Amino acid sequence: RVKEDGRNSYCFFTAAMQERSARILALGHALKQAQQRGELHLVYQPQMSLTNDSIVGAEALLRWNSPQWGAVSPGEFIPIAESNGLIVGIGEWVLRSVLAQLRAWLDQGLPPITVAVNLSAVQFNQPDLPEFVGRLLEEAGVPPSCLELELTEAMAMKNPEAAAQQMRELNQRGIRLSIDDFGTGYSSLSYLKRFCIHKLKIDQSFVRDIGSDADDQAIATAIVQLAHSMGLSTIAEGVETAEQLACLRYRGCDEIQGYYFSRPLPPAQFEQFVRARMGAPVQA
Ligand code: C2E
Ligand code: MG
Ligand code: MG
Ligand code: MG
Repeated sequence: RVKEDGRNSYCFFTAAMQERSARILALGHALKQAQQRGELHLVYQPQMSLTNDSIVGAEALLRWNSPQWGAVSPGEFIPIAESNGLIVGIGEWVLRSVLAQLRAWLDQGLPPITVAVNLSAVQFNQPDLPEFVGRLLEEAGVPPSCLELELTEAMAMKNPEAAAQQMRELNQRGIRLSIDDFGTGYSSLSYLKRFCIHKLKIDQSFVRDIGSDADDQAIATAIVQLAHSMGLSTIAEGVETAEQLACLRYRGCDEIQGYYFSRPLPPAQFEQFVRARMGAPVQA
């Protein structure tokens, strides 16, 4: 009977929703202590240039190992941190940690690389962000060109005038900027031209089937051409196979990032990976 079925599915839906919001609440609570308790750490995924087959950088990705909840993915806990305000403190911790790591790598004689940090909208919208990041760079003694900040199209397009100004100020301090997940949001091309960005990150949804899907091939080609015509470079995310790599190389993509090359690595392993690739002796 239709009515009964309807009621049943309604009940099921609310039960699932209740469970979901209970988890969100509990995770949000656990996240409050996570930072002080040292449950957060960063992993670094190498980025390889297709022009000279060398490692040019890394993306820093946040990890949370909760004693209670196990490994929680940033795809789940970042939105929670954004909604309860914890993202500001967490984001600051990420920036400080990355800069301390960069300083340590420079001191250890690792070739200079650029580390990309994901920014959340809340951070990007803070008026004093450029000044704040500039101060952190100075305190850490790290050249600004070693830091790249990843924004999304939504962050850039919500208030394009303010975003353009924020980007200009970051750029004036020598900090590099990229647009993450490019092609999944919407960008006004006239604004893109006015943004002080260096790189477009081709979203992994276009990379997955690039070997066989003509539409994805067309999209990747269009993004690369658009970027190059504006003097920007491109990096493809989520590259898992040699076929995808060959396809992207053929289309003129500048850099790749993905499991094919390396998974995100803890700092010590990342360092070893870089040294091995550079042919430099691995320190004992
Ligand atoms: P994102 O910035 O687009 O990061 C790329 C995601 O793709 C990462 O997921 C990475 O581990 C994953 N990935 C890399 N290579 C491959 C591959 O070959 N195949 C597949 N299937 N996946 C690959 P992750 O680490 O789970 O991060 C998810 C999202 O969480 C990130 O997406 C980013 O938006 C956010 N996030 C991560 N760390 C931070 C952070 O420190 N701050 C902020 N605000 N957001 C972060
Ligand atoms: Mg990213
Ligand atoms: Mg991405
Ligand atoms: Mg993303």
